[in-house]
Amino acid sequence: MRILTATLIATLLAGLTTAASLAQDEARWAIVVHGGAGVIERESMTADTEAAYRAALDAALETGGAILSEGGSSLDAIEAVIRDLEDNPLFNAGRGAVFTAEGRNELDASIMDGSNLNAGAVAGVTGIRHPITAARAVMENSRHVMLAGEGAEIFAREQELEFVDPAYFFTERRWRSMERAVGDLGLPLPERPAGAPEPEEIQEGHLDLMEREHRFGTVGVVALDQSGHIAAGTSTGGTTAKRWGRVGDSPVIGAGTYATESCGVSATGTGEYFIRLNIAARICHELEVMDRGAEERAFAAQDAADMVIQGALTDLGGDGGVIVLSGSGETAWSFNTPGMYRASWGSDREPVVAIYGDED
Ligand code: ASP
Repeated sequence: MRILTATLIATLLAGLTTAASLAQDEARWAIVVHGGAGVIERESMTADTEAAYRAALDAALETGGAILSEGGSSLDAIEAVIRDLEDNPLFNAGRGAVFTAEGRNELDASIMDGSNLNAGAVAGVTGIRHPITAARAVMENSRHVMLAGEGAEIFAREQELEFVDPAYFFTERRWRSMERAVGDLGLPLPERPAGAPEPEEIQEGHLDLMEREHRFGTVGVVALDQSGHIAAGTSTGGTTAKRWGRVGDSPVIGAGTYATESCGVSATGTGEYFIRLNIAARICHELEVMDRGAEERAFAAQDAADMVIQGALTDLGGDGGVIVLSGSGETAWSFNTPGMYRASWGSDREPVVAIYGDED
């Protein structure tokens, strides 16, 4: 009888321990965020600007971390964080997007659910306040993966998404950067858009700095939720002075965004390179091959990211970077530019926010 009781207790205890470790496993979550890569250097950054970027990245981690730690889905975390970044004029997404050579803001975004390979994207939209929400609506409420231009806006109206006057996206510094780029290309200067505020005074030196710093500024998030699902999303205004309905990598599934059951990637950089190299899907492929190797590889996400960014992208002459998340919750980033706005956090680690190449 005593033995029986002891066995029973031992079995119960073992059950409890397994349940506890399972609960611990289940409680695992992670998030990694980027706010664009480019020529971001200490000497060209004012203390105020740097603090503003760090605060925005901190807030992004807090928003995403709160959703994930409470058991929310990776898709919800991604959408919430990107919506905030789209509202923040510091970033080249939503408000603060760069201008085309015709003086318009044409926005691109995509999202992918790694648990079922569902994906949605919008390209070249001009009035949708939150392109990432439109991308998610395409994924969840249409038969398609990517909608472009007017058709995407008709769909977004049917979905009752929020629309704004195109002047909402206007920022003086992006306008000035476009004016310069258009001048360099020998193109005519477009007219200031209707509804844009009166021109602001911006110091010449400051403009140089902004131009270098803000050549990029795309935003992206990859998250792992407590159910073990990975998702990835990206939102951008594209590249300054783009022409003819140019679409970059950000809304292209496989190029700027990709997610599977065991990998998620969001990219930033010159889209023309990321599209041709299929960067995001390629990193996931490399990562999965490494994970299938004979021995379990630590730092597989870092190795896969470096292999593709420092290898294939750099070899082709492209510039930019990626954030990566693996099924085991490992987060990584890799970029070949002097800096990348980036941040990560997880249930088993402290939050990290970094800007320059020599930080981590
Ligand atoms: N990848 C974006 C594009 O080419 C731009 C960026 O990430 O800065 O549209």
